[in-house]
Amino acid sequence: MAQRDFYEVLGLNKNATDDEIKKAYKKLAKKYHPDLNPDDKKNAEEKMKELNAAYEVLKDKDKRAQYDQFGHAAFQPGGGGGRGPNINMNDIFGGMGGAGGFGFDMGDIFDTFFGGRTARNRDRTPGPERGADLRYDLTVNFEDAAFGKEMMIKVPRLENCEECNGTGAAKGTSPETCPDCNGTGTRQTTTRMPFGMVSSTRPCDRCHGKGTIIKKPCNHCHGNGKVRVERDIKVNVPRGVDNGTRLRISGGGQSGERGGPTGDLYVYINIKPHPIFTRDGTTVHCEVPISFVQAALGATVEAPTLDGKIELKIPEGTQSGTVLKIRGKGIPVLRGEGRGDELVKVKVLTPKNLSARQRKLLMDFETGGSDVQNNPEKKSFLDKLKGLFTD
Ligand SMILES: [Zn+2]
Ligand SMILES: [Zn+2]
Repeated sequence: MAQRDFYEVLGLNKNATDDEIKKAYKKLAKKYHPDLNPDDKKNAEEKMKELNAAYEVLKDKDKRAQYDQFGHAAFQPGGGGGRGPNINMNDIFGGMGGAGGFGFDMGDIFDTFFGGRTARNRDRTPGPERGADLRYDLTVNFEDAAFGKEMMIKVPRLENCEECNGTGAAKGTSPETCPDCNGTGTRQTTTRMPFGMVSSTRPCDRCHGKGTIIKKPCNHCHGNGKVRVERDIKVNVPRGVDNGTRLRISGGGQSGERGGPTGDLYVYINIKPHPIFTRDGTTVHCEVPISFVQAALGATVEAPTLDGKIELKIPEGTQSGTVLKIRGKGIPVLRGEGRGDELVKVKVLTPKNLSARQRKLLMDFETGGSDVQNNPEKKSFLDKLKGLFTD
């Protein structure tokens, strides 16, 4: 399989629009279709495969984002097992239909390009199968999500038993061909129906479709061929991850069957709430309490940021609820440049349990002509209040 970058395969750059991707794909699919290249069919088939692999990923918003994020290596086909990419034939040939169409046999196309499992290979012994993917929900600290962290996690998974190399057969023995199905893993039954005979295939009862039986099971894995182990897996949590960010760890899943490749591990990020900060994307929010004197006169107070305390200037006459911005102290952009901002909400504290002297000072202040009486906000409030009770 070619190792070319998917964008390169389509002759595009990373900024290509969905439409450009679709157009490029259609154009190249017509060019490399093996039926249109009878002299160089092998090469055309290779090109077509490469093209399909690229398009399969780039046409899908989520897959494309992952590809951009995790790179080409993460998207190499595992080989063996499963069905090839599901390409919607309409995507390729939708624009070519109509009376003068090429008249491809869709069945042939699927067999040639996508390695689909057809009736023909159902009778064979089952081949290698890719291991299942695993999900791990990882809780990380607020700060670690912001700045990234290398973490070790313990992932319980099934691995091939080392004692029997995953065969499940006791030492010195090996699985034998199932005599009931001759190793095919399936049994055929024929039923007489009013309109004729109907044959159907079902998995072999004796070997459960494996095609082999174990006479003497391995005593380490009891014939399963698998043992449950806890693996330490290193997870590089990149800076800027958010709740729900999914990280893919290639080969971190269950081991494959019959020599098939290992599945992947998907780590879902869950961020622990912080006692002071909350976040919204790359923006960090927090609340800073100040006294009403500081609010009135203005002051410099300490404000927390993810990088430690900083001095925050409170302007004279600040109202409770005012939001002040601290630039660049938010969350770093995930796999990008720069950081968001921090928004500090000022909370003005009203004093309680005043002494007689304080009480007198405040009374003097109130009657001494404070501009609060003439504040437009207060005026309009009083006006509304009047209107409310005259009715
Ligand atoms: Zn069998
Ligand atoms: Zn074993």
